[in-house]
Amino acid sequence: MALRLYNTMSRSIEEFIPITAKEVGMYSCGPTVYNYAHIGNLRTFLFEDLLKRVLIASGFEVNHVMNITDVGHLSGDGDDGEDKLERAAREKKKSAWEIADYYTEAFLKDFDDLKMIRPDTICKATDHIQEMIDLILRLEEKGHTYQSGGNVYFSIDTIDDYGKLARLDLDQLQTAVREGVEEDEHKRNPKDFVLWFTRSKFGEQEMMWPSPWGRGFPGWHIECSAMSMTYLGEQFDIHCGGIDAIPVHHTNEIAQSEAATGKKWVNYWLHGEFLLDETGRMSKSRGGFLTLSLLKEKGFDPMDYRYFTLGGHYRSQLRFNFDNLASAQNARTNIVKHIQGLLKEGAKAIELTGGKALEYKEAFLSAVQHDLNTPKALSTLWAVVKSSDLTNDEQYSLMLYFNTMLGLGFDEIAKPKDVAASDEALRLLSERNAAKAAKDWSRADHLRAELLEMGYVVKDLPSGSVLEEKM
Ligand code: AMP
Ligand code: ZN
Repeated sequence: MALRLYNTMSRSIEEFIPITAKEVGMYSCGPTVYNYAHIGNLRTFLFEDLLKRVLIASGFEVNHVMNITDVGHLSGDGDDGEDKLERAAREKKKSAWEIADYYTEAFLKDFDDLKMIRPDTICKATDHIQEMIDLILRLEEKGHTYQSGGNVYFSIDTIDDYGKLARLDLDQLQTAVREGVEEDEHKRNPKDFVLWFTRSKFGEQEMMWPSPWGRGFPGWHIECSAMSMTYLGEQFDIHCGGIDAIPVHHTNEIAQSEAATGKKWVNYWLHGEFLLDETGRMSKSRGGFLTLSLLKEKGFDPMDYRYFTLGGHYRSQLRFNFDNLASAQNARTNIVKHIQGLLKEGAKAIELTGGKALEYKEAFLSAVQHDLNTPKALSTLWAVVKSSDLTNDEQYSLMLYFNTMLGLGFDEIAKPKDVAASDEALRLLSERNAAKAAKDWSRADHLRAELLEMGYVVKDLPSGSVLEEKM
């Protein structure tokens, strides 16, 4: 079965064909580490993890690179905002380096809690300043840059396909200056963007490096071009991120990368849609957002959130509220209980070779291979949970297989401990049986409550009452 993915560049679902059979190069725009990641950001990283897992399940080796933006990402889309890290450092009275370290660690903790596979390379912008300078020098040599007002700009009029990813209508943009975005008098074209800053209206900043154009710091877009090319080469397969990156960040990455190399840069562009809360798009700069830690404080497991995100297609907006998360928690708990039940009855992993089990396996794979259709894949998972035509071993093995792509931790579910009920608990159970036989319902209820306090749930089955350990 072929893997098919929606390519933002062509606006269509295409068969995925890698540049080389050996491995797939995949780059994700990483977090800007001036605050905690919110669960919207995490939705985008979860979509990228799903993509990687589906590539692997489809037989590809993946070389995954993700950056950490620890300098150069300014507030607002224009080039005249303040560096987000510097602003957070000022507000929190810490150094920009401390802010970056702290929030990088917090991000990686969330990453691991959500059972995302760590990228092969996680690279910090501040560790790759020389590569960025080298790339700007290449652009300068080819005549794509100019210096003005202390900054080095990329001139979009030196290329003929600027804006092809976002399908920007440049003529219209020239005449309609966006509200709230100040026009930069140093730019020859309002869509030109900064490659290297030496001057900011916010004064000297902490993170600055020497360069041929003076002490300063890189623009956010050049960071991703330089780091991805360092680790994946001048042409690679997949670049992904959130949908908001299309009109500016990815558009500018493409412009400068292709201008520097003279070649097509990336073959497949994939973008995840937004997570919405009750007020609209969840946003880091707006504040008041939800974090994974907060969900945990409210009694949710990170896997409940992961399951919740899988219920929507990555290219559709997903509305978050706690009722929806509770439904996801309920559904996931039922799957976990089902797997525990299978293990209790001795289920083990086997190779699936034919029959009905193979049909379920293929149905699941074909859903995810069709542009990561997880809602459809989950319906196959539930069909397996409810099936009566599979053996326990087949059911269990299918759940493990689905888990390689869903990343829900099914492989870590252990066989539930057998209830070694204490003598006292067994004595109370037989007393309760006697009370029931004598139709003394209030005594029976009282004994049930007493057993619950001791950690046992009484189950009244047609064959008699039994004890189960409280979950
Ligand atoms: P940042 O840390 O702000 O650079 O963002 C990290 C990633 O989260 C980027 O790929 C953004 O496109 C993405 N993102 C930002 N807001 C949301 C949202 N509400 N829902 C989904 N993804 C988002
Ligand atoms: Zn990027």
